[in-house]
Amino acid sequence: MMRMMTAGLLMAAAACAPAPPPASSPLAALDSAARDYVALQLAIGEKEEGYIDAYYGPPELKERGKQIAASRDVRQLGSDVDALAARIQSLSGSVGQPLAARTRFIQANLNAARTRLRMMAGEKVSFQDEARNLFGVAPELKPLTAYDPVLAQVDRLVPGDGPLWQRVDSFQNRFVIPTERLKPVFDAAIAECRSRTLRHIALPKEERFDLGFVTGKSWSGYNYYQGNYASRIEINTDLPIRISRAVDLGCHEGYPGHHALNVLVEQRLVRERGWTEFSVYPLYSPQSLIAEGSANYGIDLAFPGPEKLAFETRILYPLAGLPTADAARYDQLLDAMKDLQGARLTIAADLLDGRITDAQAISLTQKYQLVSEARARQTVDFTKQYRSYVLNYGLGQDMVRRDVEAYPAPIARWKRFEQIISQPTLPSDLKPL
Ligand SMILES: [Zn+2]
Repeated sequence: MMRMMTAGLLMAAAACAPAPPPASSPLAALDSAARDYVALQLAIGEKEEGYIDAYYGPPELKERGKQIAASRDVRQLGSDVDALAARIQSLSGSVGQPLAARTRFIQANLNAARTRLRMMAGEKVSFQDEARNLFGVAPELKPLTAYDPVLAQVDRLVPGDGPLWQRVDSFQNRFVIPTERLKPVFDAAIAECRSRTLRHIALPKEERFDLGFVTGKSWSGYNYYQGNYASRIEINTDLPIRISRAVDLGCHEGYPGHHALNVLVEQRLVRERGWTEFSVYPLYSPQSLIAEGSANYGIDLAFPGPEKLAFETRILYPLAGLPTADAARYDQLLDAMKDLQGARLTIAADLLDGRITDAQAISLTQKYQLVSEARARQTVDFTKQYRSYVLNYGLGQDMVRRDVEAYPAPIARWKRFEQIISQPTLPSDLKPL
């Protein structure tokens, strides 16, 4: 009942756009700085493919970004970032508490942009500096030997001869979705993720996504948010897709993950409040820790405890034509392997800081992520392309989990999760680990 009332109020609010502030007010000054911020981010995006993850704001700002980029190199853009940050700093005293969240958010993104520009100019930045400046966190990196007890535990689940990664890989290959069944399996998985999310979070009725299968990527799935409450979700089929990935990707890329987050940001921040700065999403920014962390944790939120396995064996296994006899053991194995997530970061840091070679990174990834050489290669390619971005998955998930699970009741957990993905949230706003 409460939820329906809330949804009604939100729709009423959406129908009338916020009145523009008087031209000389601090709010008008902030709105104007926010538009300059968007144009500047778009200009940086002209210098690096993939820097802008999504933009659905005014087309004239896109045009302005192109013009700025045409006359400024990355170092000059760095000075523009500094100048804008100083301008916003001078406003932050006067704009008042309700808007402090906006200036804080823009400043965090400008700090990330400054760092990314230094990297674009060829400057070497250490893994930890990069992590702190781009994503707002410096992860604790454990030595790989700290993960040996996890390997021993996994070893007991898949006993036999040969390297552990090989046993784990061939066991998991029994759960590959046949290519011709991919679409029905993914459609059913995403529909379930969506309906579980809609029970707790009201989304605008026009929201929609389309789904495509692609090849030749270093990622396994991607959400391209298009604006107007629409996403294009792509699933990479370079490597065989195992059945547990359907719900994972459905939640992560769709509901309550990236698609839901982007829809809520567009609805509540950009349209209802007129906060233009949220219409641009720079990939290398603290927003990504929140986005990836909530998208990963969203799987457990939507399918708590045994519910994922129950749904998979009841609906997805039959759709894929797979036997369910070993489904529980498969689930147990994946569960045990979750504790290896941190090893990925240690390997990434060692590779990016030049302490190990590509070949060593591939072999360590095989050993500590328990994957085939082809999968390890894809992981290492991803690390080389996106660098410290990899921390957003495991660490982001741990941080969002810690924060949300401080609330014991499922309803309160969803409420808190909804806040995290629909309000300006920085990593430092989450309960510390
Ligand atoms: Zn993601």
